[in-house]
Amino acid sequence: MGKSDMLTVGIVGAGAMGRGIAQVAATGGCRVLLHDARSEATDEALTFIGGMLDRAAEKDRMTAEAAGKAKSLLNKAEGIDAFADCDVVIEAVSEDMGLKSKVFAALEEATREECILASNTSSLSITRLAAACDHPERVAGFHFFNPVPLMPLVEVIAGIRTEPSVIDRLVELGKAMGRTPVRVADAPGFLVNQVGRGYTLEATNLVAEGVAEFADVDRIMRDAAGFRMGPFELLDLTALDVTHPASIEIYEQSYHEPRFRPAMLMGQRMQAGLLGRKTKQGHYAYVDGKQQRPEEPEAPGFDGGTFWVEPGEDAAALREIVCGSGAELDEGERPGTDSILLIAPLGLDASTHAARAGLDPERTVAVDPLFGFEGRRTVMQTIVTRPEVMRTAHAMLAQDGTPVTPIKDSPGFVAQRIIAMISSIGASVAQNAIATPEDIDRAVKLGLNYPSGPLEFADRLGTGRIVQILEGMSACTGDPRYRAGPWLRRRAALGVSAATVEPAPRG
Ligand code: NAD
Repeated sequence: MGKSDMLTVGIVGAGAMGRGIAQVAATGGCRVLLHDARSEATDEALTFIGGMLDRAAEKDRMTAEAAGKAKSLLNKAEGIDAFADCDVVIEAVSEDMGLKSKVFAALEEATREECILASNTSSLSITRLAAACDHPERVAGFHFFNPVPLMPLVEVIAGIRTEPSVIDRLVELGKAMGRTPVRVADAPGFLVNQVGRGYTLEATNLVAEGVAEFADVDRIMRDAAGFRMGPFELLDLTALDVTHPASIEIYEQSYHEPRFRPAMLMGQRMQAGLLGRKTKQGHYAYVDGKQQRPEEPEAPGFDGGTFWVEPGEDAAALREIVCGSGAELDEGERPGTDSILLIAPLGLDASTHAARAGLDPERTVAVDPLFGFEGRRTVMQTIVTRPEVMRTAHAMLAQDGTPVTPIKDSPGFVAQRIIAMISSIGASVAQNAIATPEDIDRAVKLGLNYPSGPLEFADRLGTGRIVQILEGMSACTGDPRYRAGPWLRRRAALGVSAATVEPAPRG
């Protein structure tokens, strides 16, 4: 690539991302030129990186020699004219198309024609950024995740006119920087931020519809679905003034794809200044940087009761829970007059399910079967379930110590809705050939820390079940956001893995 083996990497913008990229480029053996419009920002960044490298050496995460070598490779660039010899320049200035376009125009002037110009943008179109350049073929996306030294993923994004060899070279550079690169076609939000909409938007919709509180949604996603962070904790960390504008950008770029429709509640909370940790008040309050989690109400005491379980795939597990709790099991084909009716619907709300099955809705309670009743159980009422029926069902389900979250009626409970949206968007990324199924799962796990990738979730939980959930949600709401696309439908129909790749028709 360069004149010698050592690559020279220019970085514009020494903020949170620029400094992290500079650090991993230097530890990866590149000569780094770091520039920021504010000269003191570059100084601060270099001091910060030096500190990080020293700490890494102290904690034996790298040798003192390697830390010293990395530090010696870091240089301050007063202006971008210092980038004349660069092999690659990575732009990491603020997320603003006008600003980035100006930076790219200046970089085209300042660099050699062979120099790759890459942007770390999270949500702006690489194709559009490149179109403003004389040589769009040398422009690409190189999207790192925050904090860079701890997040191994980098998305390498090809704009419509990007030269394939530019992508190959960035993949190699990403590896040299100790990252796991994934190849992604230019698309709204690329791969990871597109799939991530499923988590935060659907969670916000659920709260906006009054189905559950913020803390309840977080508890369900952590304890039942196995996410490290609930969607609202995550939103508080990234801040709504970053996430909401990115959602709008993705929605606009997609010409209003309903799956990406921004959440009104998120916009309102952003306008109200409830941004998250940085304003000490988001979906949670923060005191001295510590999240104030509301205490979970105790489960009601259990005084016994009789439960009838609707026959179906999950009935055996539910019956076992009933028997284990000391409650009486109604084994009749149809429920007795005093029994509480337990159902386990997929995609349907409890009211519609009870009506279709001819069950008394005042005595019906739904339990989410998606994660096998482990970790945390979600119980959902119909719109007319009697409060004492909900209380008794809640108490019975909590008898073995498993926490229980009661919610209002919703097609797909909480976890079903959110997981189905993640899988649905992941499948559309595959269908639109934005990335390979393998890379979709890998990138989502590495970039978002989800316990499974979107297609893995479908394989784990049943692609047919995911399609059933989406169909139920579509039927109940009429909202095209919930439509199941062809990728999942075909794989469910044939009973093959959700990651199945269709061969090229010409061999
Ligand atoms: P930041 O605000 O921390 O840093 C931006 C830096 O750019 C500032 O130091 C600013 O002085 C400098 N700058 C502004 N205009 C400049 C110019 N014309 N020339 C040189 N320097 C200039 O922002 P950040 O969080 O580091 O984000 C940078 C980019 O990375 C954005 O495009 C953002 O979308 C993307 N990104 C951010 C994250 C994240 O979590 N923070 C994650 C992935 C990608």
